[in-house]
Amino acid sequence: MKIAVLPGDGIGPEIVAQAVKVLDVLRAEGAKIETETAPIGGAGYDAAGDPLPDATLKLAREADAVLLGAVGGPQYDALDRPLRPERGLLRIRKELNLFANLRPALLYPELASASSLKPDVVSGLDLMIVRELTGDVYFGQPRGIEVRSNPAGGSERVGFNTMLYAESEVRRVAHVAFGIAMKRGKKLCSVDKANVLECSELWKEVMIEVSKDYPEVELSHMYVDNAAMQLIRAPKQFDTMVTGNIFGDILSDAASMLSGSIGMLPSASLDENNKGMFEPIHGSAPDIAGKDMANPLATILSVAMMYRYTFADLSTADRIENAVKTVISQGLRTSDIWTDGTQKVSCSEMGDAVVKVL
Ligand code: NAD
Repeated sequence: MKIAVLPGDGIGPEIVAQAVKVLDVLRAEGAKIETETAPIGGAGYDAAGDPLPDATLKLAREADAVLLGAVGGPQYDALDRPLRPERGLLRIRKELNLFANLRPALLYPELASASSLKPDVVSGLDLMIVRELTGDVYFGQPRGIEVRSNPAGGSERVGFNTMLYAESEVRRVAHVAFGIAMKRGKKLCSVDKANVLECSELWKEVMIEVSKDYPEVELSHMYVDNAAMQLIRAPKQFDTMVTGNIFGDILSDAASMLSGSIGMLPSASLDENNKGMFEPIHGSAPDIAGKDMANPLATILSVAMMYRYTFADLSTADRIENAVKTVISQGLRTSDIWTDGTQKVSCSEMGDAVVKVL
């Protein structure tokens, strides 16, 4: 398996180094893993004047999976938009056709006090949101701002976007979501706004059609406004959720905060063949970069997702996740999740602890 390793900027290199230590353990045990590192984001701009250098994109295309740290930093904020680090990230997702974004929201019971919700509401939370990533109102045409005549007379500027999904786009993300639900609790909630939007009406019809291929999965539907409320009221009612790009953008950010720390949450973005890019959901944290303080667990858990979804090696995925659970239960904490009575460790010490358990 060839893995393209793209550390990026800020804390990216520090956290990715810990995840690479995990890969090194697996390699030492005989796993055939090859890694190659390349710059992306600000590092890509510094190296080649482009946040997604051609050589990096070529490596990512040829690899079986991509492991990414994070991109961005204040020193790049004044660059023209196409040269900014975040553009490199958007482009690689689009170029690799990574249409299914998987974001787990999982709360380790020991970290329940870190959540802004009551511990009994979130303790033991284990939810997966599947968000369609390359369609919807973010990409639909036409879009723009133009001057139109006003029915009351005169004219004024209007802004418009098009919410658009082709059946095939809904179908492919539906298959990913049902496949994931099959491996989890066999309950899938499709979130839409079919009471108002034709685009959602089609989304719902296709979900029902695809559900016939997965008779073991219990499919339910929820309007997005209710889903937002239910996620905060009683998040443990959900097992797997699937939704479009804009609804998923908002719901997955809300869900990620249920679990307290941004430093704990991994993500995967998959294409049609389950090739994927795996990255923590947080950014490059310039405020703590270079201080060996960042929490590397989201990145290490991203490696577990790589094993689960791209390499289909569930036992290695479980092993990595269990190693993370063990270090948490041993009381080891980076500063973002530290509380009285637990042991504060650095980024590299946390990586070493996971390696030791493995
Ligand atoms: P951020 O996620 O980088 O940081 C938000 C806060 O969380 C900071 O206080 C930071 O110290 C903390 N934090 C983040 N990750 C942590 C970790 N692993 N361990 C401990 N603490 C952690 O978000 P931001 O500050 O809004 O953005 C900083 C830069 O990152 C910006 O340039 C932004 O564009 C970029 N960004 C990149 C991505 C990505 O690469 N996927 C995502 C979001 C933001």
